[in-house]
Amino acid sequence: MSGFGHGFEGSYAGNAARLAPDDRLECGICWWIYDPAEGDELGGIAPGTPFAHLPAHWVCPQCEAPRHKFMVLRDD
Ligand SMILES: [Zn+2]
Repeated sequence: MSGFGHGFEGSYAGNAARLAPDDRLECGICWWIYDPAEGDELGGIAPGTPFAHLPAHWVCPQCEAPRHKFMVLRDD
């Protein structure tokens, strides 16, 4: 074990623990945006639900992409 070969630091890679509760995420396939303040009415997700708390089977309501296709939106 050399310690080399770890290429995952810094990528989101489905690691919900790095998300803030109010982070918005954008679908990498269709650009639909999940806003925790609004939830996902189609998916039965109540407003105020952080992305990290979405059920494991949740998919994009527009294109059915899985959660790990989403990318965090940052307004700088
Ligand atoms: Zn989508």
